[in-house]
Amino acid sequence: MIIAIDGTVASGKSTVAKKLAEKIGYFYINTGLMYRGVAAFARINNIPTNDSDKIANLVVKLKLDLKDVNGKQHIFVNDEDLTEFAIVPDIGSYVSNVADNPEVRKLLVSEQRRLGLEAGDAVLEGRDIGSDVFPDADIKFYVTADSRERAHRRLADDQKKNPDLTIDDVEKAILDRDKRDKERPIGALKKMSDSIEIDTTNLSIDEVVDLLIRLWSTEIKSAKCVSNLKAGF
Ligand code: C5P
Repeated sequence: MIIAIDGTVASGKSTVAKKLAEKIGYFYINTGLMYRGVAAFARINNIPTNDSDKIANLVVKLKLDLKDVNGKQHIFVNDEDLTEFAIVPDIGSYVSNVADNPEVRKLLVSEQRRLGLEAGDAVLEGRDIGSDVFPDADIKFYVTADSRERAHRRLADDQKKNPDLTIDDVEKAILDRDKRDKERPIGALKKMSDSIEIDTTNLSIDEVVDLLIRLWSTEIKSAKCVSNLKAGF
């Protein structure tokens, strides 16, 4: 069974996707980390991420692997762990450039599809999972929250790197990234007609995970009912 989780920046989707996968024993795939890995590699090697031809030539030469390191998903690019470079707060515009690149998307989407199918039971999390990667996913969630609340969740973390940041700065950066994600010509973030929207503004992580598990088990039961009917029971 494939579970697609898409959503806005800092909505809590990565944390809940990972916890959900752990609790139900599914493989977890953080697709954003793959785009981040390509951006980090380009940045380290001084390849301009806004040069779409250079990035298209680069991405075909990269070997991307998601691996579990001490319970956290890490991104390895050409066998080197680039996670710490991939998650620094100021990587945002580099990742957005890479994610706008049609060649990068084509390659990463097909790799994500392969990983999901190979796992069989997987939770994939990103922006275009329910639309492009697995349009026929068994369950689709669209996770979001009020932008001010999302800024509060990010503030403490972002201030560790830049103590001068204000809540308004963080909220603006979040809204800018959402806008870019929603307006991307290919793979844009959108709520699909068959996705279930989860607003996490007033919910704790555990409450969201419990809700997703309830919805998943309802889906499993109804899927079983359908297969029972087909089998003539
Ligand atoms: O989810 P995360 O913030 O780590 O994603 C990093 C960036 O990668 C996002 O801002 C988005 O632009 C891009 N992305 C994407 N498609 C995905 C996952 C992430 O375009 N499936």
